[in-house]
Amino acid sequence: MDYEEWDTGEWNVAAGWEPPVTAAEEQVPPTRGSIDGWDTGQWNMAAGWAELARAEAAAAEAGTPETEELPAAFQAPAWASDSEPQELWNPTEESTAPVRGRHRVAKQRTLGRGSAVFGVAAAAVLGVGGVAAADGHSPIAVSLPDLPDAVANVPVLGSLVADSNAVAAASAPGDTLGLNAGEVLRTRILNQAQQQQTAAEQIKTASAERSATKAAAAAKVRQEAAAKKKAAAEAAKKKAAAAAAKLAGSYVKPVASYTLTAGFGETSSLWATIHTGQDFAAPTGTPIKAIHSGTITSAGWAGSYGYRIIETLDDGTELWYCHQSSMIVTSGKVTTGQTIGRVGATGNVTGPHLHLEVRPGGGAPIDPMPWLRAKGLVV
Ligand SMILES: [Zn+2]
Repeated sequence: MDYEEWDTGEWNVAAGWEPPVTAAEEQVPPTRGSIDGWDTGQWNMAAGWAELARAEAAAAEAGTPETEELPAAFQAPAWASDSEPQELWNPTEESTAPVRGRHRVAKQRTLGRGSAVFGVAAAAVLGVGGVAAADGHSPIAVSLPDLPDAVANVPVLGSLVADSNAVAAASAPGDTLGLNAGEVLRTRILNQAQQQQTAAEQIKTASAERSATKAAAAAKVRQEAAAKKKAAAEAAKKKAAAAAAKLAGSYVKPVASYTLTAGFGETSSLWATIHTGQDFAAPTGTPIKAIHSGTITSAGWAGSYGYRIIETLDDGTELWYCHQSSMIVTSGKVTTGQTIGRVGATGNVTGPHLHLEVRPGGGAPIDPMPWLRAKGLVV
């Protein structure tokens, strides 16, 4: 601390007036109680309120009357006001306009006598902020009476001390500046608390709105994905159904390569009556395919038919595949084109061939050729 400069500035250090503003500049951490920190919104609210409460409690305990008279501790020394006429502090728009960040201590050192009251005001502020206790003095008891609105509306103490004219004008001993400082501080803290609460509520509201928007977007994405998946599943199902329908609607020739020999209705010494089917001559072992999807309802030796497989279609029509050399599928469902056995010459035959019979509803046989052609086959 530069006591030399303060001494030459008529400040009476010996009388116990520590230069608090210098202390604020050099010792007070910027985030707690300093004028700069306070003015930039970094005021430690909890500490400020606690100190204010302590000051009020101390004042109440001491029975300090709630008057507008400065406590003795805040009285400027007699020399500070004995030679100049004092003006009542009368704030104007210019002098009350908030000035941020300009109340550096270096400027205040040039104030001369007027700075005595500034010292009182700053001591009040710093005392409330907890600095007075920190620099070795007891906390200053500050009385905070209910002041008129005109005084309560004084905007910022910082702007007062930044304006040397305002400080000089307010240098009258016993005026209300010290008390005003407390009230201004209280108003400032209340306003700041209100602003912080409002800001917190705004943040909370904005956050809730963002969350809602986000949730809605996520729900929409999920909905679209579900719809897409459902559409894909339906398309796949439809495709499978179409394939099954196509397969179910299709018919194939029972043997791929053949020679038509005896037809339906012919007479021969081989048959007791007439020929009840169509003969497809082919080498032994030629695959016999299911003409259409259906169910194998009989498979085995059948006398003059040799080894015979009976396939029953869904409409009840029976297809008889006779004279097989070997049977491959003897029961269960078969699909169109599935190999169910092989051409042979078992039973009453003169050579290897497939004897095919078509019996609608399991009744009397009909000519297989028109039936096959009716199913779209070229035979
Ligand atoms: Zn035959």
